[in-house]
Amino acid sequence: MIRLHNFINGRFQAPASGQYLPNDSPANGQVYSEVPDSDQRDVEEAYQAAARAFQDWGRSSKQFRYEMLMRIADGIERRFDELAEAESKDNGKPLWLTREVDIPRASANFRFFATALLHFDAQVHSMEGQALNYTLRHPLGVVGCISPWNLPLYLFTWKIAPALAAGNCVIGKPSEVTPYTAYLLSEIVAEAGLPAGVLNIVHGLGGKVGQALSEHPGIPAISFTGGTATGAQIARTAAPMFKKLSLELGGKNPNIIFADANLDEAVRMSVRSSFLNQGQICLCGSRILVERSVYNEFRDRLVAEAKKIKVGHPSNPEVFMGAVVSKPHMEKILAKIETAKQEGGIVLCGGERAYPGGEAEGGYYVAPTLIENLSMDCSTNQEEIFGPVATLTPFDTEEEALALANSTRYGLAGSVWTENIHRAHRVAARLHSGFVWVNTWNLRDLRTPFGGMKDSGVGREGGFKSFDFFTEAQNVCVKIEGY
Ligand code: NAD
Repeated sequence: MIRLHNFINGRFQAPASGQYLPNDSPANGQVYSEVPDSDQRDVEEAYQAAARAFQDWGRSSKQFRYEMLMRIADGIERRFDELAEAESKDNGKPLWLTREVDIPRASANFRFFATALLHFDAQVHSMEGQALNYTLRHPLGVVGCISPWNLPLYLFTWKIAPALAAGNCVIGKPSEVTPYTAYLLSEIVAEAGLPAGVLNIVHGLGGKVGQALSEHPGIPAISFTGGTATGAQIARTAAPMFKKLSLELGGKNPNIIFADANLDEAVRMSVRSSFLNQGQICLCGSRILVERSVYNEFRDRLVAEAKKIKVGHPSNPEVFMGAVVSKPHMEKILAKIETAKQEGGIVLCGGERAYPGGEAEGGYYVAPTLIENLSMDCSTNQEEIFGPVATLTPFDTEEEALALANSTRYGLAGSVWTENIHRAHRVAARLHSGFVWVNTWNLRDLRTPFGGMKDSGVGREGGFKSFDFFTEAQNVCVKIEGY
C-alpha cells in the first residue's frame, strides 16, 4: 500500500485529520494507495507557507523563475517511465497514451510557460504630446489551482506552471480520484530545489480542500477545471470576495460532417474524438451530426471501426481504450446509456460494460458506444456523459446543422468537416464554442486561447492569456511636459 503525503512548505506531511482515503486502480478495481483526507486546517497551513514564500518569489527575477521551472521539466523527464506508469495505473488510461500525451505534455507545460515568461512584458500606450502609459503586471499572491481526473498531471501542470512563472505561490489541489502523479510531482519539485512554500499540494476531497480554497479570504484567484456544477459552486462561494476565477468546465461537443467531407479522415478522427481516453476528454465529440445524403455510409463505416476497437488492460499496447476512471463513473455512464434507450435511442454498438478478463478482471470497462434515433432535445444529447458514448444525428441543411450544434447549454469545442472553404469559415464563425477545428480534432497550439462559451466556462487560458489571468494589470500614466 502506497501512502501519499501532502506537500506543504517543502515538507511531506500527513493531513491534520490523520485520515486517509482509499484509492483504487480502475484497471482491476484494487485499492493500492491511500490519499490524505485533508481539510481547512491543511489549506490554512499551506496558505501561511505560501504567503511567506511569496515575499521572495513574488519579487524574484524572471531568469530565476525560468531556471526553476526548467529544472522541474527536467525532473519530469528524468522520471518519465515512473510517471507514465503511475498515471496509467491511477486513471485507467492506456500506458501508450500516458507516454505519448500526458507526461510529455506535463513537462512541455513547464517549458512552455518558463520560456513564455521571458517574452511577457509591459505594454506601452503613448498619448502623443501629453503622456506615456505603461502597464505593469503584478503577481496576485497565493493562488489556488484545482484540477480534475481525466488528464491528471497534464491539467494540473497547465495551471501550476503559468501561475508560478507569473510570480505567484500556489496551493494545488489535484483530483482525489487521481492523486498519484501530483504526489510524484511534489517529489520532483523538492528535488528541483524550488524554495519551500512556493508550491504546496494539498490532497483530499473537493468539498473540503477545494471548498476551503474557494472560501479563503487571502486567496485572490482560483483556476479551476472540472464539472459545470462544481464551477457554479466555486463561483457562488468566491464571487462575494471578488476573486478572479478561471473556470474550464464541461462540454457536449458537436462534430459536423458535411457530404463533401473527406469521409475517410472524418471517420478516422471521429473514432478518436469519441473514444480517445475512453471519451473522457472535455473536447471529445459526443454529438456527431452528419449530412443526410452520406449519413448511412458514414454511420456504417464508423460503427464498423468502433467495433474493431480493442478494450483492455491499460498496460497492453494493443488496446485503444482502457478502463474508465472509477466504479461510480462507470455506473453513471451505463445509467446514461439506459436513459438513451428509454429516450428511443438505437444502440448501434457497445451499450454495455466490457469484461476484458485476465489481469483486467474486476476493472471498470465500458464498450465503445454509438447511438442513433434520438431527438436533439433529449437528455442524452443535452447532458455531458464524459465516457465512450456518442450519438449520431442526420441533418439536411447548413442552417439545421448549426441549430442542432448550438442547441445545448455548453459551448466548449466543435469540429467541422467539409472540403468547401467558404462553408468551413462560415460555419466555424457561427458555432457557439470556444474552439473550432476544421477537418481535424484536438490539434493544439499552446499559445492559443483555451476555454469555453456558455456553461462551458469563464475566461481563457493558454499562452499570454494565462499570464493575464495570473497577474493584476496596473496602468501608470506619466504626464510629460513640453513633449
Ligand atoms: P469535478 O468538478 O467533480 O472535480 C474537479 C475538481 O474539483 C476535483 O479536484 C474536485 O475534488 C474539486 N471539487 C469538487 N467539489 C469542489 C468544491 N465544492 N469546491 C472546490 N473544488 C471542488 O470534475 P471531475 O469529475 O474531476 O472532471 C470531469 C469534468 O471536468 C467534466 O465535466 C469535464 O468536461 C471537465 N473538464 C473540463 C475541461 C476544460 O478544459 N473545459 C478539461 C477537463 C475536464
